[in-house]
Amino acid sequence: MDQKRDYYEVLGVAKTATPEELKKAYRKLAIKYHPDKNPGDKAAEEKFKEAAEAYDVLSDAEKRKRYDQFGHAMGPQGFQGGEGFGGFGGFSSGGMSMEDIFEAFGDIFGGHRGFGNFGSATGSRRAQPRQRRGDDLRITLKLSLEDIAKGVHKNLKLKRFDKCDHCNGTGAKDGTSFTTCPTCNGTGVVERTQQTLFGPQRAATVCPTCNGEGRIIKEKCSYCNGTGVEQKEQVVSFDIPAGVTNGMVLTVKGKGNAPMHGGVNGDLLVVVEELAHPELVRDGNDVIYNLMLDFPTASLGGQVEVPTITGRARLKIAPGTQPGKILRLRGKGLPSYEGYGTGDELVNVMVYVPEKLTDEEKKIIEQLKDKPDMQPSDETKKSIFSRLRHIFD
Ligand SMILES: [Zn+2]
Ligand SMILES: [Zn+2]
Repeated sequence: MDQKRDYYEVLGVAKTATPEELKKAYRKLAIKYHPDKNPGDKAAEEKFKEAAEAYDVLSDAEKRKRYDQFGHAMGPQGFQGGEGFGGFGGFSSGGMSMEDIFEAFGDIFGGHRGFGNFGSATGSRRAQPRQRRGDDLRITLKLSLEDIAKGVHKNLKLKRFDKCDHCNGTGAKDGTSFTTCPTCNGTGVVERTQQTLFGPQRAATVCPTCNGEGRIIKEKCSYCNGTGVEQKEQVVSFDIPAGVTNGMVLTVKGKGNAPMHGGVNGDLLVVVEELAHPELVRDGNDVIYNLMLDFPTASLGGQVEVPTITGRARLKIAPGTQPGKILRLRGKGLPSYEGYGTGDELVNVMVYVPEKLTDEEKKIIEQLKDKPDMQPSDETKKSIFSRLRHIFD
């Protein structure tokens, strides 16, 4: 029996690796050595299987415990006999099929670009031309808080590569000047004999000369010099949803550059840059406004106007409003990007202490100074501090 590598070593993780770390490590290897990426590469296939075996054992708490205790001494044969180790029993004899791996760990690959269609990786693998994809375009979009609160529709003039109209993106003169590919005789695929678990098998792969198109350009399009793309200035329209945050990247599908010689466009990546508001400060979905009250209004009560994202709002000030008090305007914040409600506006009260006074004003304040209600009692102080406690949190 050949020497087995340590499972942790195979996955390149520490013995203390968490399930998340194991999964990540395995996913990386599985993608790297995936048969679709390494057609006919026997060594890659072995690595792929080795990683699957290691992950099968280490991702199962019971099996991992046993492996940690006994190592390969128990071996997959040992596992095979044990309860609940049926699935990968065939490892040691080399009889495990790729199908088993995909069946067991298909979810590992879920959503990874280019590896979506795992069903086709087993059995009769079909040759498919690689879909060419253009580059993504990245732009920065400056948005005001008002834009962010409502969401905004944008029409932007962009310079980007689009498919050449004269050849319909093919690069061939008039879009028709092609000749049959001599390598594949127009079929788009070439057949090769591959060694598989079930012995030699004929497998079809994409023709490298024509990328599976079965034809090559006879005469180039003169407008795009055979590239199939032209730089154009175009207006791109898209919607920015409400509640986006600074640095967020939004994807506008298919509005990036067109690839050369036809295929699908890349995406337009819109990076959000939030512009500072002159009076409001954003805090998550809330906005904060620092309100400077004059002393008479703070002590007598009254009404003030404060800015909000949607315009001015009137705010009632109760008599005896203390500095440090936070008044909440419910729903006057920003909507959550995920759709969970709307934030508030928090009005942070400060009280203005005059910095310059006329003699007359000084006299009035001096008269006030010795009035009994100008000094808080210990009880009053305690009560105010407890009401303002949240500012010390
Ligand atoms: Zn060909
Ligand atoms: Zn052209």
